[in-house]
Amino acid sequence: VADYQGKNMLVLGMAKSGYAAAILLHQLGANVIVNDKTPFEENEMAQRLSGQGIEVVCGSHPLELLERNIAIVVKNPGIPYTNPLVAAAQQKGIPVITEVELAYRISEAPFIGITGSNGKTTTTTLTFEMLQEGNKRPLIAGNIGTVACEVAQTAKADEVIVTELSSFQLMGIETFHPKIAVLLNLFDAHLDYHGTKREYGLAKANLFKNQTSSDYSVVNADNEDVMELAKESNGQKVYFSTTQALPDGACLQNDALYFRGEKVIETADIVLPGKHNLENILAAMSVAKLMGVSNEAIEAVLKRFTGVAHRLQYITEVNGRKFYNDSKATNILATQKALSAFTQPVILLAGGLDRGNEFDELIPYFSHVKALVTFGQTAPKLIKAAEKAGMKDIKRVDNVEQAVQQAYELSEEGNVILLSPACASWDQFKTFEDRGDMFIQAVHKLV
Ligand code: ADP
Repeated sequence: VADYQGKNMLVLGMAKSGYAAAILLHQLGANVIVNDKTPFEENEMAQRLSGQGIEVVCGSHPLELLERNIAIVVKNPGIPYTNPLVAAAQQKGIPVITEVELAYRISEAPFIGITGSNGKTTTTTLTFEMLQEGNKRPLIAGNIGTVACEVAQTAKADEVIVTELSSFQLMGIETFHPKIAVLLNLFDAHLDYHGTKREYGLAKANLFKNQTSSDYSVVNADNEDVMELAKESNGQKVYFSTTQALPDGACLQNDALYFRGEKVIETADIVLPGKHNLENILAAMSVAKLMGVSNEAIEAVLKRFTGVAHRLQYITEVNGRKFYNDSKATNILATQKALSAFTQPVILLAGGLDRGNEFDELIPYFSHVKALVTFGQTAPKLIKAAEKAGMKDIKRVDNVEQAVQQAYELSEEGNVILLSPACASWDQFKTFEDRGDMFIQAVHKLV
């Protein structure tokens, strides 16, 4: 376990992870300084930390902080490297790490790290559930669940931490070394932060950089960019695919999932909808099998798992209409996947924050979309795409509640009513969770 006693540690940015990192380092005897842009009066976390005797500097990122003999900067993944304080720290040669690196350094338990553009949370949850069902003592850390360094602090050597990792987190790792690394896919997301796709890819490949031949890298054989990046790994590769037979890996064949040639489950027994979820399942199943989980345990999980909240989550049926909440679909690709998961007529609820893109890429997926109900900044652009697709029923509303009402009026028995916005939520909501919760509430009001 790394020694932080008496070291000056600067924690930059104070979301959940910065808060947990500050407490941890304080408990380990470090002199912690926390710096956050939000002014102290409006900063509840800063006030709480201050109450515990931790120094907080709020309202701006003063460069003078670096003159205090800082050993390490722990940076919130959302703060870009172009931030003047971060850039200055790097120039001075001060290591800038993310909270997950810190978690790794203090953990007795090994890690399973899961990354990719889409499907991280679903795959992380599935992996956790399978390991749990197989009595492998897993702990879950990250987005859903507890912050990694909080989990790591009490984790035992015979436990295993399953964690989801964003490319932003991966940019700040040095020694982090997952026993099993999973790279699901790589799409053109987050390019505003990472600059180019190659840089984004390299951030993801950081996942592999410390792996050795006794570790495993589980990678998607159907994604060219993933295959390219997997070359960076010294770990033993385990490939998965939904399109090709892989006798040494995990694959979909004749309506069943196989691992190393052995049938694990028929797809008809899997509750989770959508072909993209078969990819997530193959990845999770590979990890579970590598960890020695039985087919029965894997099967038990897949027969009951209905999805993570806000990810193509089945809500209920009202008079023959099925409602799904896919509020987490904050980009076009996610909405394409959601639409592909259904064969019955869909009424799509979409719209949100305008990032400047058009929605023409949705048009090929609109063949079974009978109506669009749109809201938020991107409504005019979505209407344009729906008109190009020749869709007849196109409605614009002010909010999600109206959207649910409107969709229900347009619907008939056998239809799917799907919230899959293809946009971030911040134009009208605090978070995508809020957006999804409002959708669910509105659906329950219909009853
Ligand atoms: P993440 O944590 O990476 O954002 P989630 O599991 O929360 O991923 O899923 C977010 C959305 O991404 C889902 O609603 C779904 O539409 C889409 N998605 C999930 N898995 C995949 C996949 N394997 N490939 C492409 N898209 C996916």
